[in-house]
This record gives sequence, structure tokens and C-alpha cells, in this order.
Amino acid sequence: MSAPQVLRGVGVSPGRRAAVVARMPDPVPAPSDRPLPFDADREAAAATIDAASARVQADLERASAATSGTVSDILGVTAAMAADPTLVQGARRLVVDDGESPARAVWDTAGEIAERLRSLGGDLAERARDVADVRDRIVAVLTDAPVPGIPVREEPSVLVAHDLAPADAALLDPEVVVALVTSGGGPTSHTAILARSLGIPCVVATRGADDLADGELVAVDGATGEVVRDPDEAAVARANRVVDRPTTLRSPGATSDGHPVELLANVGDPSGASAAARAGAQGVGLFRTEFCFLGRTSAPGIDEQVSAYRTVLAAFAGRKVVVRTLDAGADKPLPFVTAPHEPNPALGVRGLRTAAVHPQVLEDQLAAIAQAAAAESAEVWVMAPMVATPDEAEAFVARCAEHGLATAGVMVEVPAAALRARHVLAHAAFASIGTNDLTQYALAADRELAGVAELSTPWQPAVLDLVDATCRGGGANARPVGVCGEAAADPALATVLVGLGVSSLSMTPRALVDVGAVLAATSLDECRALAALALAQPTATAARDAVRARLPVLEELGL
Ligand code: PEP
Ligand code: MG
Repeated sequence: MSAPQVLRGVGVSPGRRAAVVARMPDPVPAPSDRPLPFDADREAAAATIDAASARVQADLERASAATSGTVSDILGVTAAMAADPTLVQGARRLVVDDGESPARAVWDTAGEIAERLRSLGGDLAERARDVADVRDRIVAVLTDAPVPGIPVREEPSVLVAHDLAPADAALLDPEVVVALVTSGGGPTSHTAILARSLGIPCVVATRGADDLADGELVAVDGATGEVVRDPDEAAVARANRVVDRPTTLRSPGATSDGHPVELLANVGDPSGASAAARAGAQGVGLFRTEFCFLGRTSAPGIDEQVSAYRTVLAAFAGRKVVVRTLDAGADKPLPFVTAPHEPNPALGVRGLRTAAVHPQVLEDQLAAIAQAAAAESAEVWVMAPMVATPDEAEAFVARCAEHGLATAGVMVEVPAAALRARHVLAHAAFASIGTNDLTQYALAADRELAGVAELSTPWQPAVLDLVDATCRGGGANARPVGVCGEAAADPALATVLVGLGVSSLSMTPRALVDVGAVLAATSLDECRALAALALAQPTATAARDAVRARLPVLEELGL
């Protein structure tokens, strides 16, 4: 019997599952703009749009009825949009009056509607994506192409895609999609972050994923990045072994010998804060405030910000909440803060650097954070993203002090700040390492790009060296150093980070239980030995394999 074929990618969300492949159809291409033949029956052609829109609406309504919660709501709204008269009547007119083909007419009309919505900004701009989704579905029916979007399956399946659009990703149902394999995407792409937040094992940048056929059986390991084709019975049983684990963290984080490690949550949308508290987070280690700024054409007013920030602080009354000031630019462009045409946005005026160009945005934000802190009982810490030098740290801390925000720190995301942490932390009260950006800058590898995904892992010994340097800088100034990048959500890597001297780990709430369980089974001395072992390895793969081999608890927990 020949050995099963193994495809390799980058494991970004730990866990194992075996199931049949459900392939995501390719995106719908723009239909040809060739007009209808001169003698075509335009009325009959226009009627095909009515039929196609009705069919898409019915399909989506059926899918909505078969699902529940947010997924069902989103499908219901999309279903209504499929029959929107502005779209259907507008497209009909282009066919009857101008002789456009039905598919092209739908494409053009939807394009105009989406453009109008985008120009209105705010929540309406978000709707533009839904219009594009409906457009693709109707055009697919009209051109006999496979229906786009996540295939609706009743049995559990492994979703295989090039990459997921954020809107598709929002529809992932972990009961049905039990693992995710993409040929594109990077370890900190939206797909990877969402998979981790849902607890779905996920492998990105998988070589050969495009050859996987709908319906074939695969076993996915979201930690090692292996996708086994046609696995034998034993491999399927191992992948699908049910491990009974609690869903909430029940005790404060600590190693097996009682060394405390704060286990905190990353929060974006303020409405997610109460779920993070219910998951057992000891506090919030990273509140990404840009959520309150995204999709807008101007900064929200101070009152609006106060109300959003209070939602998060109220969910963590009496506990620590680290509020990050606006991190605009690069992967999070904001029209009213960032310049549109920088040649290298990741190296441009982003993060704290935008405060030099738009000082009032930071002033207002600090005022809003101070007001929210005064009104709630959470212990508020503030930190700036993308700090590179001691001068920047000093200036930021001084501005926070003017607003009465006494605990002001920095994110360490730039190698310069890590290497010179001793000097940066002479000014700042604490450091929180953003391993997503730190990895991107240490390896000169775009965090969103599949082509460099193998480089983009925080297991890179160079990144671990920078974490080590930051912890030494923290130690020299008696300042705590935490990690709030995606590295903190990897239970094996968490032991290494603790061994290097990190005192808090902030992650997607879903990861708290697994990280807590692995730490609870490992002593501080073992963490230190694992850190030394990882630092001594020549490659990221060698570091990860060496550490994982010394942590039998991972196998017991199915991680
Ligand atoms: C990071 O860079 O690791 C981080 C936590 O910030 P963000 O992912 O929001 O850039
Ligand atoms: Mg960052």
C-alpha cells in the first residue's frame, strides 16, 4: 500500500479534523460586455433577470432557514437584497433600453449601487460588499457558473478555498466547516484570525490545495500545517478523537508550579467584550480601538468614543484593560488619517506616526479614554502602536500624562524597539509585543501575503531573539512585558514566551482554555528550557518541532 500524499502549508489554528472536502467555487468573472444580437427579444432576455434573482432569493432563504443566529440573519438580509427593485429594475432597463446582456446588466447595475454605497461611508459602505455578493450569485445563475460563496453542506466538511473574503468568513459555521485549508492567505490574514477565533483548525498557503477535489477525504492538522489525502482509518480516528475540554477558563493563568501568567483577551468590536469576559479572560490585553474608526469618512466624536470604550471597560470592571490608540495605515487604511499613495504603506506614516500629521485625532482619543476610565472601574492602561524609538515612547507617555492616564506603554512591533527595549522601557510603563508586525518587519515578509507565509511565523528564531531582547529590556527597568500578537494564542509557543520572561498573554478568547491548560501542565523551569531549546534552533520548523516534541500534553489535548 502506498503512503498517503501529504500537502504542506502553514498551520495557523491548532486542532485536528478529518472530513470530506467542500471546495469554494472560483470567484465569478466579469461577464462579457458584448451586446445582445440586433434581433434578440429584449423583453424575454430581461425576464431571465427576474427568474435568476427569484432563484437566488429562494436559495438564500432556504439557507437562512437551515441555519441559526448571526449566520441566519446575514443570509436573510442577503436574500432580501437579491430581489431589491433598484437592482432588478435597473438591470432590466439596461437590457430593454440599451441591449446589454442580462449578466452584464446585473454586473453594471450592482457596480453602480455599490459605488454609491461606498461613497456614503459608514455602515452603508459595508453593504457594498453584500451587493457584490448578490451580484455574483445572480450572474452565476445567468451564466450557468457554480454558485459563489461558502458551499452549503449538511455534513461536516473541510472547506478548501484560495482565500476567504471577510464577508464569506463571517458565515463560517464551525459545526459544518470543521477545518479550513487555503492555498493563499498568510498566518495573520483575516482568514487565519477568524479561524482561530472560531476554534476551527486551519492551514494556509498550502501547496497543492488547488488540486484537492470536492468530496475527497482529507485529515487536517492545524498545528503542523499537514493535510493528508486519503488518510487511513487510524489517522481519521486520531484526527476526530473527541477531547472533552471546558469552554471557559476557570482559574487565573499559571505554570504548574504556580508562576502567574495573566491570560487576557484581544477585543476589537466593543460588543465582543462581554463574551471575552464570559470566556474567563482575566482582562483585556489589546483593545483594538480602530474598530470604532473603520468604514468612516471622519473620526468619531469624543462622546461617541467614550461610549464605545465604556462598553469594554464595563465588561471588565475592576480588571485590567489595555487600550491601544488608533493603529491606522498599512493593512488598516483610514482615509481621514493615512495618505492614499505611499509606495510602502507598511513602512509609512502608520500607527503612532500618524499622530505627528493629525495630532488632534490622538488628543481627542486620549481625552475620550480618560473620560471613559473616569466613569468606569476597570484598571485602564494605554499603549501606542508602532513605536520605534525611545523618543517616541517618551513623547507618547508625556501626552498620556497630560490626560491623567498614568499607565502608558508601547507596543513592540518594530525590531528597533525590541533591540533597544532597555532605552524604550526607561520611559514606558510596560511593553506589549505585537508579534504579527514584529514578524513582518523582522523577516521583511508581508503579513497578508501567501507567497511569504512560510517566513511569516513567530516561531522564527529571529523573532524569538527579539522577544528575548524585549524581555531583557523590561527586566532592566522592572517593566512587565506581554505578548498580544497571534503568537500568544499558540499553546506550544506560549510556553516559550513565558520561558523568555513574558508575564501576560493576550489572545482571541477562544484560545484561552488551550493556552491555560498547556501552561498549567508545564513548570516555569520547563518553559525556560523550552525557550532555550527554541532559541538554539536554526529554523522556525526546527524550533516548533523541538518544542512540540517535549510537550506531550499537546497530544493529550488534541492540539
Ligand atoms: C501585532 O502586530 O501583533 C498586533 C497585535 O497588532 P495588529 O495585528 O492589530 O497589527
Ligand atoms: Mg500590529
